[in-house]
Amino acid sequence: MNECAICDRLATPGSVYCEYHSKAYDNLRDAFEKWKESLEIEWDKYLKQLLETEGTGLWIQEIAEYIIQQGSI
Ligand SMILES: [Zn+2]
Repeated sequence: MNECAICDRLATPGSVYCEYHSKAYDNLRDAFEKWKESLEIEWDKYLKQLLETEGTGLWIQEIAEYIIQQGSI
């Protein structure tokens, strides 16, 4: 079993994230898909905007920071 890419928990099978971070990631992708329909926004800009938004959940913040650091989609 591998560790989550972000925290020390075990990653869920088929994912680089633990169950909490993988759930946060799914929520993030879902939210982004909805945003994309109304706003022309890039994934990385969306993530950066999230980090600047007050009230963004901790799990989401950690995921967003991680993805930005990786520079990947
Ligand atoms: Zn995790």
